[in-house]
Amino acid sequence: MSTPIKPRILTGDRPTGPLHIGHYVGSLRNRVALQRDYDTYILIADVQAMTDNFEQPQKVRDNVLEVALDYLAVGLDPQQSTFVVQSMIPEIAELTVFYLNLVTVSHLRQNPTVKTEIAQKGYGESVPAGFFVYPVSQAADITAFGAALVPVGEDQLPMIEQTREIVRRFNTLYAPVLVEPKALVSETGRLPGLDGKAKMSKSLGNAMYLSDSADDVAQKVRSMYTDPNHLRVEDPGQIEGNTVFAYLDAFDPDKAGVAALKEHYQRGGLGDIKVKKHLLEVLEATFAPIRERRLAYAKDMGAVEQMVKEGTARGREVAAQTMQAARKAMRLDYF
Ligand code: ATP
Ligand code: MG
Repeated sequence: MSTPIKPRILTGDRPTGPLHIGHYVGSLRNRVALQRDYDTYILIADVQAMTDNFEQPQKVRDNVLEVALDYLAVGLDPQQSTFVVQSMIPEIAELTVFYLNLVTVSHLRQNPTVKTEIAQKGYGESVPAGFFVYPVSQAADITAFGAALVPVGEDQLPMIEQTREIVRRFNTLYAPVLVEPKALVSETGRLPGLDGKAKMSKSLGNAMYLSDSADDVAQKVRSMYTDPNHLRVEDPGQIEGNTVFAYLDAFDPDKAGVAALKEHYQRGGLGDIKVKKHLLEVLEATFAPIRERRLAYAKDMGAVEQMVKEGTARGREVAAQTMQAARKAMRLDYF
């Protein structure tokens, strides 16, 4: 009996820094769970990282293997998941050029995620063109691998929708060769930052990294934002906007236990130090093994690099097949 071909997944991250526990709940946890049932391609998106980091190429370079280490640490298995360096797949850039004809500037301007990012970065009309069109390059990422499923956080939904539109346009105009992907939205929303801000993020400096030491983690938990009005243990405390409880919701498998803690905290008599001590235990249960695996892999960076190199070669074969079909569809298959 032949093994059925598994549907493909494409996901990835920009190598602009190490991954944090927000990335873990947002997507890494899902990817590990899905890798057995899907042919998974994980893109280390250095080309996309360059769109807003082109002045810091060394930063992008240094983070490629850091992100690969994070993947190995969380349990992505290179036997099941193919790690691919985006810039080493020129077919992605090639597809991007052709897809750019299939979208309008006015449509790109309306992308809500990019709109927000342009405002956050203060680009205005001086936005680099490469950054402005990154949803199109993301469509090339997804379709190059023929991905049927793209596991993402909610902020990425406009990118998947843009991809689907490009695929339909391409397939109608030329020939039905591209796979129209579906998004798989993570059930856990945004993890707030340690400072209580709406989002844990590298650039906001409020993140707990997968590469943090046990001491870093303990120190970060101690400094976490809770309820600023909860001054005495006996006072009633507030759960809404309380980061410690947001993290317990995200990481503590004992839901009934969390509910009881919340109830006690709101009633009064439960101090922040105690809740933080519990949170630290919960975080360590998940992240201590990840940290250990990361340290073990980090001892042989040559092997990590080799694994990324092999994955990239496998990925390139898939992308080259797509490119060949796309060229034929566009009547550009001359020789
Ligand atoms: P930067 O500050 O450079 O923008 P970041 O920490 O915000 O970095 P991104 O690379 O922008 O991370 O995030 C990539 C993807 O990871 C996002 O599209 C989102 O789906 C997911 N993600 C990032 N931060 C979080 C978070 N705090 N909670 C859940 N998911 C997250
Ligand atoms: Mg971001």
